Amino acid sequence: MPGFSEELLFELPEEKNAQCSVAWNPWHGCRRYSEGCRNCYVYRIDSSHGIDASSVKKTKAFSLPLDKGKGGRYRIPYGSFVYACFSSDFFIDSADKWRSQAWEMMRIRKDLRFFMITKRIIRAASLLPDYWDEIKDKVDIACTMENQQEADKRLSAYKSFPVCRHTIICEPLLGPINFSSLKGIDCISVGGESGTGARICSYSWVLGIREQCMAAGVSFRFKQTGAKFEKEGKLFSIPRSLQHLQAAKAGINLP
Ligand code: SF4
Repeated sequence: MPGFSEELLFELPEEKNAQCSVAWNPWHGCRRYSEGCRNCYVYRIDSSHGIDASSVKKTKAFSLPLDKGKGGRYRIPYGSFVYACFSSDFFIDSADKWRSQAWEMMRIRKDLRFFMITKRIIRAASLLPDYWDEIKDKVDIACTMENQQEADKRLSAYKSFPVCRHTIICEPLLGPINFSSLKGIDCISVGGESGTGARICSYSWVLGIREQCMAAGVSFRFKQTGAKFEKEGKLFSIPRSLQHLQAAKAGINLP
């Protein structure tokens, strides 16, 4: 999904306990949904291979959580952390016909921990399985909010969305955001945009969100600066290899 950098493996505290991390993309392709999608990496990478990213297709890895190797063991080892659906949006309507099978695989593999990010939180609540309570502590669903407009649209829907941990991803951060209230939110991760045509991320926007997190007792992480970063009126061009490092150096994360 999720409209942000290609660095998919961002850490969650729980990941440290998992045996390994794997990616599972049951379907591939997406349709742009909001401003954060403008420079979507799925489109960028697919177009470089002459593939139409707007065509959503079931992948060969669809049944990966249940696939077994020669010894009869699951190919995804017991206790793994699974990044799910990072080359699409799990709740895109094109995948409505496949989603029930995907949920069922998550039910069978309760030993795994799944993590996904969506922009389509408003339709997601009606797409949870009947047995959601049975699996919800093993399926983390974060929601992207890239600017004020999308935060205004998605925040209330996400707050009432019945996940165990509410994680907001402000990435790519495209402007200042004032959250009406962060009650019920556990964590916010913030970052700029990478890749060709990356838009500016301002440090003042990052700090503004951090202040709101501090006031509300919400965990905050400045994940990466993005390629064009503005601080105190100066614009910095930051290579990808340094974007995470520069954010870490700011030392502004809140546990
Ligand atoms: S929702 Fe995510 S995967 Fe889909 S177009 Fe937007 S950024 Fe790309």
